[in-house]
Amino acid sequence: MKKRTCLWMTLFLLVSMFVLTKENVSAKGFRFEPDTDGELVIVIDPGHGGENLGADYEGTVEKEITMVVANAMKEHLLKYEDVTVYLTREEDKDLSLLERAQFAQSVNADYLFCLHFNMSEYHTLYGAEVWIQSQGIENQEGYRFGSIWLSDIKDHGLYLRGIKTRLNSKGTDYYGILRHCKEFSIPAALIEHCHLDHLADSGFADSEEDLISLGILDAEAVAKYFGLSSKELGIDYSDYPLVEITPGEQYMAVDSTSPDMCYVEVESCDYETGEITLSLMAYDIDTPMLYYQYSVDGGETFTPLISWPKVDMLSETSPDYFTFSFTVKQETSPKIVVRVHNKYNVTSDSNLLSDFHVFPTRTKDSIPESSNEVMDQSQDVFVDTSSKEEQTNSSFNSLLFQSDNSFLGFMLVILVLVTVLFLSLIVVKGLNTNRKKSRKK
Ligand SMILES: [Zn+2]
Repeated sequence: MKKRTCLWMTLFLLVSMFVLTKENVSAKGFRFEPDTDGELVIVIDPGHGGENLGADYEGTVEKEITMVVANAMKEHLLKYEDVTVYLTREEDKDLSLLERAQFAQSVNADYLFCLHFNMSEYHTLYGAEVWIQSQGIENQEGYRFGSIWLSDIKDHGLYLRGIKTRLNSKGTDYYGILRHCKEFSIPAALIEHCHLDHLADSGFADSEEDLISLGILDAEAVAKYFGLSSKELGIDYSDYPLVEITPGEQYMAVDSTSPDMCYVEVESCDYETGEITLSLMAYDIDTPMLYYQYSVDGGETFTPLISWPKVDMLSETSPDYFTFSFTVKQETSPKIVVRVHNKYNVTSDSNLLSDFHVFPTRTKDSIPESSNEVMDQSQDVFVDTSSKEEQTNSSFNSLLFQSDNSFLGFMLVILVLVTVLFLSLIVVKGLNTNRKKSRKK
């Protein structure tokens, strides 16, 4: 009996030792389940490569700058202890999304970070976003990492577009790198640092220095997420708090429906200065609001996108109501429509406001410099910012070249030609009579 108790005791000790060492390892940086060995392995994937350039805008090529960011990120991460870092590609070469995920699996990756830069079809969007896997524990860990990264990139000065998921027609992750990593149970995040084709963002990525600081920012977010420490940097993130998650819940689900409400009213209208103040009531039950823009020609053309005031993409909240002002061009009777964009860029248009009189002519002095923050943002787009000279020039140009006035322009040219012809006929006739007269003499 005693022997048997001894055996059981030994077995119990061995098992508890095993469990304890396991827990020790997991406390040292493995904050989630699908860990396969005793090592923390990070894979950084510099987006695109080879023939696949990615975004290509005014001389900036995405495949090149993702490489710069990836190298800086790796270098900075290696300053932390107990971490192994790989890049999916060390050089400029083509690599399929499956190959990238397979590489991550081959090195027992604990997480893959895929680095990208953005560009939008009409060069209208701006801001930073993270795409995460849509389901399971990878979704939850994506949300946790995304929250840290977004908070850091916000402090860096970028507007936030949020943490997002996107599905394909099969209901799995739309982005291949996220989908393939999910197939291998590797959590992955696709980081879209900023938009290369928008002035609000491009200044964050237009020098090597900028790209290196983005790489360091990415590395810091990863170090915080894994609770790493660095003697070299004198940093200890081992107690860095992660956002609470509810087991089984799905985070950052895609919203394909348009904002539920968008209603606009006139707060005040000053015919002297041309300033109109509107109150906007708009919300989306599913996601926060991201941008708004307005039209003064009944919805034919809109201002560039303006940031939603006081939106918080970390808590996913945005105010339902705010007022904003702008100045209307003189001698016009505006037809105002406001367009609002939710987090997934699905839009709704407001009611039309058209009961305005014609705004009278006013001197340049009476136009206010700026009335508030919102007006500042929209100023560069708006009508009254162009000088008188430019306005005259453009109206002259439009007289000649715009399709509406092409007939008038054509008639003007004909009139000039006819006049020249008529005058030359008179001159020729005059000369002939003179010659005849001199001959008679
Ligand atoms: Zn890309």
